[in-house]
Amino acid sequence: MPRPAIDLFQKTFGTIPGAAASAPGRVNLIGEHTDYNGGPVLPIAIAERTTAAVGPGAGDAEGVLEAVSTRYPTVVRVRWQEELPQGWAAYVAGVLRELWTLDALPPRGNLRIAVASDVPVGAGLSSSAALAVSAAKAIATLVGAKLTPRQIAGVAFRAEHDHVGVRCGVMDQTIASLAKRDHALLFECASLEAEQIPFAAPLLLVDTGVKHDLSTGALNERHAECQEAVKRLKLELPELAWLASWPVEWLPRLKRALPEPLRSRAVHVVSETARTRFAAELLAARKLAQFGKLLYESHESCRRLYACSAPELDTVVAAAKRAGALGARLTGAGWGGAAIVLVRERGTGGKKQVSQAVRSAFRRAYGREPEIREVQSSSGARAEPKLLS
Ligand code: ADP
Ligand code: MG
Repeated sequence: MPRPAIDLFQKTFGTIPGAAASAPGRVNLIGEHTDYNGGPVLPIAIAERTTAAVGPGAGDAEGVLEAVSTRYPTVVRVRWQEELPQGWAAYVAGVLRELWTLDALPPRGNLRIAVASDVPVGAGLSSSAALAVSAAKAIATLVGAKLTPRQIAGVAFRAEHDHVGVRCGVMDQTIASLAKRDHALLFECASLEAEQIPFAAPLLLVDTGVKHDLSTGALNERHAECQEAVKRLKLELPELAWLASWPVEWLPRLKRALPEPLRSRAVHVVSETARTRFAAELLAARKLAQFGKLLYESHESCRRLYACSAPELDTVVAAAKRAGALGARLTGAGWGGAAIVLVRERGTGGKKQVSQAVRSAFRRAYGREPEIREVQSSSGARAEPKLLS
């Protein structure tokens, strides 16, 4: 069995790690731009994982973190309580600080960590949550702290949100920690309720290769528009805390109350919220064809109302539909990035035929081919004792 995190630990520190754990990347099936509006999302964990190998540091306890990754081979050495390192090791320092806050770590503990991963970075598959969750699980295992998957997700979320300073929701860390193989997780971002929904269907991820920069511009603009919509809708419904909580039966009233573009944005969020909950019901009832139709509807809503698609994504979705795929939509915010395609088990609309159709439509339009991979649903964070033996 290949053990790159363990090998890197031994090569870098000259000792054997005391514990190891892994956590997956994720793909969101439906529920786009609902998370920061207090609505539901429906992600699955994917087979690509990040593994963290950890051990105590050498010498007296003085609160030193030494961190290395196959992606960043220069060892970072930092006193994690006093300073937050630049770059990727900040996620690990944030995890240490949060574990310490929970009394799950001895004071001024030294720690060594080596990380290896096959989750692509910055491709919308949430490599950052895979890193933070695997580190939290590995460190908790090393020190014998009994934390629930929810607590691990919380530690990883606060590490990324409060310490690294990313304005992320809690979806990525939650799915990386709680995922069950062959299940999607219906996760309500306002109440934090989570429900496992059986999911075992062939799914393709098509990466358009168009990079989106979510840190500026469009996403912030959408955040602001949604906040403004809530402010205005409070005049109609004073107890409204989240845009996603607006009752879907009251869409006509919402449309009367808001000017464009707030109206379109809000209609997307409210209808996507209803669609995501309905999609989870259809999945649970194994009604895949109807579930697929909701994926197409979600894409249309993203494209027309939320204006977060891109021509490349529309090309993929249209080609998949023409080829008979059950459903397709952009995933991971949009403005570029990837689309998912739900294909049939075989024949027309199956994996082979849809992949070919998407490739050739894309080549005709853009003179190059997108990267297409099959997504395997996977399990959440786990200790990896076998890697150590
Ligand atoms: P993503 O969509 O992949 O989560 P982010 O920008 O949120 O994109 O997170 C990417 C960041 O997470 C990287 O820049 C790096 O700091 C950190 N990261 C992810 N995976 C690794 C890894 N294997 N080793 C070190 N750092 C990693
Ligand atoms: Mg991330």
